[in-house]
Amino acid sequence: MDCPRCESPLESYTLAGKRAVTCERCGYLGVSVEHRSEPKEIESWQAALDRFNDT
Ligand SMILES: [Zn+2]
Repeated sequence: MDCPRCESPLESYTLAGKRAVTCERCGYLGVSVEHRSEPKEIESWQAALDRFNDT
């Protein structure tokens, strides 16, 4: 999978039980949701980290 913003390769990992993808180049962060195969962009790294820390 490539970044929808800059088309560089995305890193993928699991965040709070969901599969997430991130781009080191431009800072894109996406999380895959159950009913869609495309990643949905979420607010920011800080929001993601806050969510991660809550669980
Ligand atoms: Zn990117």
